[in-house]
Amino acid sequence: MSGSTDRLRDEFEACFGGLAAIGRDPAGGWTRLAWTDEDRQARAWFESEAAARGLAVDRDPAGNLWAWWGPDAAAGGVVAVGSHLDTVRGGGAYDGALGVVSGLLAVGQLIERGVEPARPVAVVAFADEEGGRFGVPTFGSRLLTGALDPEDVLERADQDGVTVARAMAAAGIEPGEVGPDPARVGRLGAFVELHVEQGRGLVDLGRPVALGTDIWPHGRWRLTLTGEANHAGTTRLADRRDPMLGLAAAVLAARAAATELGAVATVGRVVVGPNSANSVPGRVSAWLDARAEQDQTLDWLVAAFQAAVEDAAGRNGLAVELACESRSPAVELDQDLTARVYACLRADGLEPAALPTAAGHDAGALAAAVPTAMLFVRNPTGTSHSPTETAELDDCLAGVRALAAVVEELACR
Ligand SMILES: [Zn+2]
Repeated sequence: MSGSTDRLRDEFEACFGGLAAIGRDPAGGWTRLAWTDEDRQARAWFESEAAARGLAVDRDPAGNLWAWWGPDAAAGGVVAVGSHLDTVRGGGAYDGALGVVSGLLAVGQLIERGVEPARPVAVVAFADEEGGRFGVPTFGSRLLTGALDPEDVLERADQDGVTVARAMAAAGIEPGEVGPDPARVGRLGAFVELHVEQGRGLVDLGRPVALGTDIWPHGRWRLTLTGEANHAGTTRLADRRDPMLGLAAAVLAARAAATELGAVATVGRVVVGPNSANSVPGRVSAWLDARAEQDQTLDWLVAAFQAAVEDAAGRNGLAVELACESRSPAVELDQDLTARVYACLRADGLEPAALPTAAGHDAGALAAAVPTAMLFVRNPTGTSHSPTETAELDDCLAGVRALAAVVEELACR
């Protein structure tokens, strides 16, 4: 093994380990929700890792952090790489983190080799990608490009009633300043997000790295079923208006529709009132997360879900409310940029596979405004949003080298 490989290995372990030390959840895994103390520590980690490589950091009005290398950003044609620092509750160490760490190390590699950038390069850490606290995924990237209106999101509250505006203010960002940055977006020439794979595609292909082809359309819907809370012993079955029965039918209907349509559907969060073991519940709220290959298929899935819920509500005397909380259309990554990245990686001796993804990403938000590509790194367990999400060190290093080759190709020639 060469000395430079050893050095990169040590550097990766130190850099990745620094971030992985933040937000260890006593309940298991990692929890770094947006604008919490863990998030603040992760941002401080990013600033110090950037500074260690001589990169100046600034923050855009959507709360994202940018570490700069090379010519002044005003020159335009900025080549940006990066991902996000936040996690879901009890998530894994790699989702988001791997892309940010790889971006910093890729630029560090080029600096070390004495490569001169002809265009500005930025490593970006996007804010609140997961939406784990306020239910608004890809918050920072969509706010940045103008796809999200601050008016629509600043008053959203977390489970404790703290609004986005208050949480951002506590992190030092004035709510009045929060918004898009069209000038910054206009200066971007390309965005490449490296991400740990969230499935077993690369394991099956026996390859360490893939290029993304497209991102499935996906969305979240909030279902509220209202019946009547009552005594679990004295209320006759015939007299009950039990919203839990409606929810049970809804969950099974989502699964059946997803199976039939080759899609995926999940009910992973439920709020029950009064949430008492000896009461018939009065109200149940649940969140449907649904993703499909085509927008139309996703529409069919939600329509099937809604029909089943209304049917169950009719039989059980329930009121139904189904509201779409977020919806992201299908995203095709930029073909020309992807072809260029593919050619560059092949020339570098790395033949990447090609994979679509059913997960949302900041790259999906950026793709609407900037030529965007994605790289995936193999994940042996195929799990994500779970502490068992992982990647082999050698594969991570292959990802860093791939990203360095891409930045060199796009910004240094
Ligand atoms: Zn992610």
